[in-house]
Amino acid sequence: MIGPDPYTPRSGDASYDVVSYDLDLRYRVRTNRLEGRAVVNAVAAERLRSVRLDLIGLRVARVRVDGDARTRFQQDAASLRVTLPRPLEAGEEFSIEVRYAGTPRPRRSTWGTIGWEELEDGALVASQPIGAPTWFPCNDRPDDRARYRIAVTTDNEYAVAATGVPRSPVRSGGLARWEFVSEVPTATYLAAVHVGPYRATTLGGVRLFAPAALLPAARAWFAEVPRILDCFSAAFGPYPQEHCTVVVTPDPLEIPLEAQGLVVFGANHLVPEAARLVPHELAHQWFGNSVGLKRWRDIWLNEGFACFAEWVWSEASGGPDIAALADAHHSRLAALPQDLVIADPGPRRMFDDRVYKRGALTLEALRRTVGRDVFWDVVRTWTRTHRHGLVTTAAFRDCVETVAGPAAAAVLGPWLDAAPLPPLPPALAR
Ligand SMILES: [Zn+2]
Repeated sequence: MIGPDPYTPRSGDASYDVVSYDLDLRYRVRTNRLEGRAVVNAVAAERLRSVRLDLIGLRVARVRVDGDARTRFQQDAASLRVTLPRPLEAGEEFSIEVRYAGTPRPRRSTWGTIGWEELEDGALVASQPIGAPTWFPCNDRPDDRARYRIAVTTDNEYAVAATGVPRSPVRSGGLARWEFVSEVPTATYLAAVHVGPYRATTLGGVRLFAPAALLPAARAWFAEVPRILDCFSAAFGPYPQEHCTVVVTPDPLEIPLEAQGLVVFGANHLVPEAARLVPHELAHQWFGNSVGLKRWRDIWLNEGFACFAEWVWSEASGGPDIAALADAHHSRLAALPQDLVIADPGPRRMFDDRVYKRGALTLEALRRTVGRDVFWDVVRTWTRTHRHGLVTTAAFRDCVETVAGPAAAAVLGPWLDAAPLPPLPPALAR
């Protein structure tokens, strides 16, 4: 059995696997009151007498396992322990229904406050890495991906964007019920809900949600999104998600964030200094959301590729090319402390910018070593082989070795496994 992720040792439970979450939420914006009914459909990975779900700050009123009303449960600050009416054997399916309610708020963590967050006029979810239990009971580990059905009932004047393919809202009695279904396996940290005074529009096949006052600016700002997705589909392989939704919140946000099939930006991000973040967040639909982390220590596989994708779009759209951007970032990193091993940066430095930039430089070192054709063959083999699967750094080395040979895979070592910054190989001829 696999133990907890060492980076998030108090989250998740490896004794069962979730197949799907069925969430029925009622949310009042004015009072920030959330009432939920969650059905967690799962399979026992070993003999089970009880099941632990992560849940934070919300009170559980009732639990039923396979419809059994006699189910006993205990709740503490971070979890819900459900005693099964009868022991289950490995491989047995079961279903836990949890009714819960409360005033959701973000949790404090090593990585700041994360999870369900009340906005000036609405709410958002930004969970990476362990914020999901602030809004639904879950097995909060990156390697337990599941399908989702998320229904949100809220006041008529608000719109809801969430993970999954949307259905038309159903309105009655001053309320609207919004429903989203996601058939692609989704990690808990990538499930998201956004409630706000949003107006929706489309850009090509992309849905854009923004407050009415921001909608014209958002339309103009994100006009390139379909072209970015086309560029990335050509470079990385077909767009792997069921839909693409861009949300612009009325509030400023510290950072934009990716969720499954969805990216969120703050009103403050529609400025030239943040332009690179648009391709960055979109690239996560391939790297992180489709090709997913088995454990958090390999975060460079998400962020290195997403940063490299910024450079790819820069070059494709007539800006500085990949080589020039890599050289500039290499010089910057050379002047910073070289005390980080990006294949295992430690939980506190998981989101250190050096993991992001050095991850991208690792890919550029590989590209300069094997040449463009073989490099893009590696990338597309990576996204195809592990589409909606779970990966590790070892799997990436294997992929490089299979496509480009052992000498190419050996290039990765000094970039990933040691702290000193290696020199970049000479740039490719144009
Ligand atoms: Zn990122």
